Amino acid sequence: MSHIKQVLSTIPFLHRDGGKYESGELQNIVREILPDSRVGACLRHRLGGSSIMVSTTNRGTTRLSGLMVCDAGHICPVCHARKMVKEQQIVSHLVHEHYLGGGVLVDAALTVPHRINEPLATVLERLESTWKGLRSSPIWKRLTRELGIVGCIRRLEVTLGNHGWHPHLHVSFLCKLDLAQEIKGHSWRSALDDAFCIVSSHWRQAGKKVGIAISEEAQAAVAIIGHVDAQRAVAYNTKNMGYCKKPNSMTPMDLLRVVAQTSDSTVTGAAKRLFTEYATVIKGKHALTYIGSAKASKNTAVKATEAACAEVVEEALGAVSANAWNAILKAGLREALAVVKSRREMVAILLRSALGEGHGRIPLGWMRLEFSGETRTVMRSRPSIMGTSSS
Ligand SMILES: [Zn+2]
Repeated sequence: MSHIKQVLSTIPFLHRDGGKYESGELQNIVREILPDSRVGACLRHRLGGSSIMVSTTNRGTTRLSGLMVCDAGHICPVCHARKMVKEQQIVSHLVHEHYLGGGVLVDAALTVPHRINEPLATVLERLESTWKGLRSSPIWKRLTRELGIVGCIRRLEVTLGNHGWHPHLHVSFLCKLDLAQEIKGHSWRSALDDAFCIVSSHWRQAGKKVGIAISEEAQAAVAIIGHVDAQRAVAYNTKNMGYCKKPNSMTPMDLLRVVAQTSDSTVTGAAKRLFTEYATVIKGKHALTYIGSAKASKNTAVKATEAACAEVVEEALGAVSANAWNAILKAGLREALAVVKSRREMVAILLRSALGEGHGRIPLGWMRLEFSGETRTVMRSRPSIMGTSSS
């Protein structure tokens, strides 16, 4: 059995939690696999000499501030999850605006042929050159005219399946039917047939131009969604962003899960090598690309998303000193601290970390309470450990 098949054989047993605690654990796996990557410093290294502020937010999340964030959305599970939420909102906003303007969406999944055991770099290069072919003249011009394209959002995803690495593009063509010269169908069914023919034949021509044989049926899947179904369209477009849930397919984050959850060292070794290959190839690639009207409205959508997603501190639970943070890291309780919902839970983590260091109680100065910018040391005023949670 090939290494890829071995890794894929774990799918039925894989637990995909998707929560923040799991992201923290998977981040530790990246740190193990890629010790030189900045992911290893993400939510771990302190910013300068500051202490770490722990608070809950109006969105029901826990925030740790005063720590480095790597922003490596492709390979850092924590940053990936955060970016996905934001990008879903941006795409939703753009699609929604497009529907308000009377547009429709032609959604396509575009792929290129590939074989098992082909390097990801080779298959991705094949996909990228076919896309370049599609975007070149006169193919793109014709596609635009026939489909009535005014804009486009392109999302790159990489999965692993029975036929090896499967990089693919989810492309949302923002179309205006009154501009579409070749969508003639009078029913949605025939309009869909037209849209499929247009997209797949242009994709095939693009492949031909760069010397790649594309099979229309296998390598293009198309859906068309009218404005009567705008809400469904927004959901459709964003439902699977970054989270492939197909039964025979794995995402890069799943490779980390295999390492975390499997004890067979042959399988974990293969998963680590595959993740390393992915990390090397994906570096510097854009997950999302905006074209035309989508590009023009992107900044507005980003601003609207940032305003809508803004997190406000609901309750400052306290600040953790540098020594306490080091003890928390050593005790492996960083991931638990990242999801505390109360001061009591926070104190419990500090106590466990203190005990791990051989202290009988939480040392003086390890935790401070913040009150509108002022700090006071908890342990000085409250000698008993439990006292801190009721203050
Ligand atoms: Zn990160």
